[in-house]
Amino acid sequence: MRLIDTHCHLDEGAFLQDVDDVIARAVENGLEAMITVGTTAASSRLCVELAERYPAVFAAVGIQPNYVAEAQPGDWDTIEELARHPKVVAIGETGLDRYWDFTPLGLQREFFLRHIELARRCDLPFIVHCREAEADVVAVLREAAAVSPLRGVMHSFSGDAATAKVCLALGLHLSFSGMLTYKKNEPLRDLARQTPANRLLIETDAPYLAPSPNRGKRNEPSYLRYTAARLGEVRGVSADQAATLTADNARSLFGLPADPAGTAE
Ligand SMILES: [Zn+2]
Repeated sequence: MRLIDTHCHLDEGAFLQDVDDVIARAVENGLEAMITVGTTAASSRLCVELAERYPAVFAAVGIQPNYVAEAQPGDWDTIEELARHPKVVAIGETGLDRYWDFTPLGLQREFFLRHIELARRCDLPFIVHCREAEADVVAVLREAAAVSPLRGVMHSFSGDAATAKVCLALGLHLSFSGMLTYKKNEPLRDLARQTPANRLLIETDAPYLAPSPNRGKRNEPSYLRYTAARLGEVRGVSADQAATLTADNARSLFGLPADPAGTAE
């Protein structure tokens, strides 16, 4: 199986003790690449350091909406500087979050647009976090799409069919997480079935959202195979086919080299 995890957080404390083992296990389980996604300037820097250390790890840099309010004056400059690193393959995560009330929405929106603009300047895709803010996210995306075409992904997509439709029409990819494997998520599986094949991605969002049968445990990139298998079932293809399809899509969206981890035999 050839897999690409388009969204994980390998810099987080949950992996502090054993990140070497976690990445080794991922590569053993067919992970050709994993994108570790920054949430603050400091976390983005750690993600870039991990990407420098491991051939299969790539980084995204940005300030996640819940951390925007606490960002210091130099933090955005740090993101802009890190964005030029050769192993940085995306800008984010950015977006809007109405679930946690940590950052005023106006400020979240300003940073969301700023990330999209940086992605455009760097010719990189952007990664969107959207939590209980579908309509607001769609409004920002429409505003940005009026300036120039969008290239990016709705990460851990969990919105409704109408939101999926707009995001796809705006040119975005949809990335499905371990939530796809959860019992009560038939509507999400329907969306994964209906998404055009060339717009499908999968991710772990590790250490969060572990797929069944590991739900509730610490998630890690090697568990991506469970989500790939479920996606295959949902779309009537094999787990391998689902893995290859999503890996090919990830490689082209993020401009990843073929087989960076050297796992192909
Ligand atoms: Zn994330």
